[in-house]
Amino acid sequence: MKTPRSAGALKADFPYTLQTMCYVEVHQDGTVRFGHDGDAYERARSGESRLFAVWPGEWSSDMFAIDDLDEYARAFGIVHDEKRTGLAAHQHDVTWRTDPHESKPNGSYVGIELRLACGCEVNDLATFARQMGEQQGWDVATSRGWGSRWSAAEGKTYSVRVRRTTLRRR
Ligand SMILES: [Zn+2]
Repeated sequence: MKTPRSAGALKADFPYTLQTMCYVEVHQDGTVRFGHDGDAYERARSGESRLFAVWPGEWSSDMFAIDDLDEYARAFGIVHDEKRTGLAAHQHDVTWRTDPHESKPNGSYVGIELRLACGCEVNDLATFARQMGEQQGWDVATSRGWGSRWSAAEGKTYSVRVRRTTLRRR
């Protein structure tokens, strides 16, 4: 038998949010559960349980101890990580317009182009979507393609899809 490797030793290179990662929580009383939820972080932090993860490989799988809970929490957005997401925890200065190439401007989701004048960058759409939900009431689609482009005139422009009824000009 082997000892689990250290996920913390890999820092941000450990793919915490990999879909196929299997998280295992071992409670103090020996109860074992697997899966993933936000409460596991709190339990692990308080010493109520320990977290492990099986990282599946093509030919064999390795078990890791989730021994850097801060890294784990940042990866899952349990605590905000400005460096990883490119997004400060502030009210973003957003300007946007409907994508001029949108073929269905009356569909339930419409493509918009937006710019961030506050200096933030969108490296993590899930975090940006959550922030825009809180700040503007937008329902940003996170399951579909999004992108960005850069031009000297306009700087960085992001294309995302937002539920039309949640888009209101202020
Ligand atoms: Zn910002």
